[in-house]
Amino acid sequence: SASAGTAPSGTATHCPYCALQCAQTLTPVAGGGADGAPVLTVEGRDFPTNQGGLCRKGWTSAEVLTAPDRLTAPQLRGADGELREVSWDAALDHVATHLREQRERRGSDAVAVFGGGGLTNEKAYALGKFTRVVLGSRLIDYNGRFCMSAAATASNRSLGLDRGLPFPLPDLAGADCVLLLGSNLAATMPPFVQHLEGVRSRGGLVVTDPRGSATAALTAEGAGVHLAPVPGTDLVVLLALLHVVLAEDLVDHEYLAARTTGLEALRASAAAWWPERAEAVCGVPARRLRQVARMLADASPSRGGRGAYVLTGRGVEQSTQGTATVTAAIDLALLLGLVGRRGSGYGPLTGQGNGQGGREHGLKADQLPGYRKITDPEDRAHVAAVWGVDPESLPGPGVPAVELLGMLGRPVGPSALIVCGANPVVSAPDVSRVRERLAALDLLVVMDTVPSETALLADVLLPVTQWAEEEGTMTNLEGRVIRRRRAREAPGGARSELWILRELAARLGVPTGFPAEASAVFDELARASAGGRADYSGLSHERLDREGSMHWPVPGPDHPGTPHALLDGFPTADGRARLLPVTHEDPADPLRADAPLHLVTGRLLEQYQSGAQTRRVPSLLAARPAAFAQMHPLLADLLGIEDGEEVLLRTRSGELRVPAEVTEEIRPDTVFMPFHYPGEGSANLLTGSATDPLSGMPGFKVTALEVLPAPRP
Ligand code: SF4
Repeated sequence: SASAGTAPSGTATHCPYCALQCAQTLTPVAGGGADGAPVLTVEGRDFPTNQGGLCRKGWTSAEVLTAPDRLTAPQLRGADGELREVSWDAALDHVATHLREQRERRGSDAVAVFGGGGLTNEKAYALGKFTRVVLGSRLIDYNGRFCMSAAATASNRSLGLDRGLPFPLPDLAGADCVLLLGSNLAATMPPFVQHLEGVRSRGGLVVTDPRGSATAALTAEGAGVHLAPVPGTDLVVLLALLHVVLAEDLVDHEYLAARTTGLEALRASAAAWWPERAEAVCGVPARRLRQVARMLADASPSRGGRGAYVLTGRGVEQSTQGTATVTAAIDLALLLGLVGRRGSGYGPLTGQGNGQGGREHGLKADQLPGYRKITDPEDRAHVAAVWGVDPESLPGPGVPAVELLGMLGRPVGPSALIVCGANPVVSAPDVSRVRERLAALDLLVVMDTVPSETALLADVLLPVTQWAEEEGTMTNLEGRVIRRRRAREAPGGARSELWILRELAARLGVPTGFPAEASAVFDELARASAGGRADYSGLSHERLDREGSMHWPVPGPDHPGTPHALLDGFPTADGRARLLPVTHEDPADPLRADAPLHLVTGRLLEQYQSGAQTRRVPSLLAARPAAFAQMHPLLADLLGIEDGEEVLLRTRSGELRVPAEVTEEIRPDTVFMPFHYPGEGSANLLTGSATDPLSGMPGFKVTALEVLPAPRP
């Protein structure tokens, strides 16, 4: 159950990977592993989000703990270019000396920090505080920028709140219609599918995806509708749905009058997108667009339905108009009166395990703990008081991740970078450029559990504890704060990032304020968040252990948490949600005569993010050992190639050779590549650095592509 998080035997914790944060029980096996620490077995545990289920990644997650190349000692790169093991004191002294030197030479923004959405809340908080207080740098951001930034920006603008799903996941079961825009959750978070059984049984699941993905397949046999728009035209699909809802007067008038503003401007922006015009751009038949708009409207409570949900995923968010697309999705939900009402709603499906908590507690360039704004004088004063520093000493906002990576090693950019829990050499867009920028640094420090592709470029490599070796909290895709618990000791010389930050802070002249115990960090985080948008002040490790997980805000020790947010109004200046106009624009990298196809990148069931963890699990690697280019038989015929033969993919950013995987389950004008692989198979050799101007989200899903049969060696 969601309560108390204890298991009859073994340790009750949660999966190390995605934001579903499935509950697990870890039990030591007698005998132990080669490193002397116990080997663990994994079982699914009953919990609202996974109801006992796990996916293949979760079942095998304990194998990551004992990866043969697990890092157990700090390493320093010598004058000969080789990494060599050194003592912790030597490594930390080296880092502190060089960080001080860079700052003295080039100012406080000489050092930048790049965090990860898999770090616990405590680590995210400590890293943000370390950057702003100890380094005095404004330059911090995290890989969650590649994941949730468009949805977060749109949610804040329209609703005044970014909490992932503002309702508990099991609520979905009662809906008559769920519109799932650009998520392949059946592959990325399979236990989620059980929450869609109800809506499927009523024929109400709508999936948009240019591929016939595992999730699109859930709509078969009368369970719903699959729309396969041209990549880059999701906003046109939504504009057409908005058009139909407005033109056919399917809106919830009472709700709009009481709880929203901006209807007329939105009406004007959707007026030109009647379904037939939209069809010519997005390729979805006009009758389908009308059908889906009516399905959603009929499911909405104002028209007597059981309820409807609009959910967005990376498929529609990872574009240079990602914020506009999510804004249109929210507009649609608002027109139908779905948001802030039990049994209906809008929400984005967070990807990374703690993508949500990471930005709530300070990893994002413009945010302070408690989801406070770094530009707001009151927010700065509150956090500065908790940190015991002068608010004037806190740096201002930094820059989004892609921009930050592009500044590294340039004459006016940072000369040192600390990477913590991320592998941007595989996961960032345009990875050739990222490698180039990392190589131009004077100092690259990487904290990781394994020698990831980014870690292998480090000047100093610091081995850290992970997941089942540590205490902490994570915040899942529903804004539910959960406990992560230690089930084994870390191997050899690995240390928690909290300990490393404490040691570095002390060497840099800040001897207090960085406890190494996660519960103490959480208590400070709770104080820093008090009164903020993400208020954790009523929580502690002890309370979460006693009472079980809780949805924020939890503004006091007696507050029961907030499973349903927005019911009593929107946290905007006037308490109303904002209907915002949206405009479709051509992609940053439009198709050309020499690049006539769409490249979309995405995920596979057996791998997670950059693959640094899952490629080290033998059964997962064996299932999906290498990258491939999925394409339609019509395209394969045109190229004169068979399934499994190599093709050459070329974009403005680069080129690579991979085998073709030929399937009818994709649009003939589109090629799909998974992005989990490094080196020559890295899909992000092909993606560009253009970003959404509002959120900094890269356009991973919209790249113009040329495909050729690969020349034989
Ligand atoms: Fe659950 Fe996600 Fe872990 Fe799979 S990867 S077990 S869906 S948390």
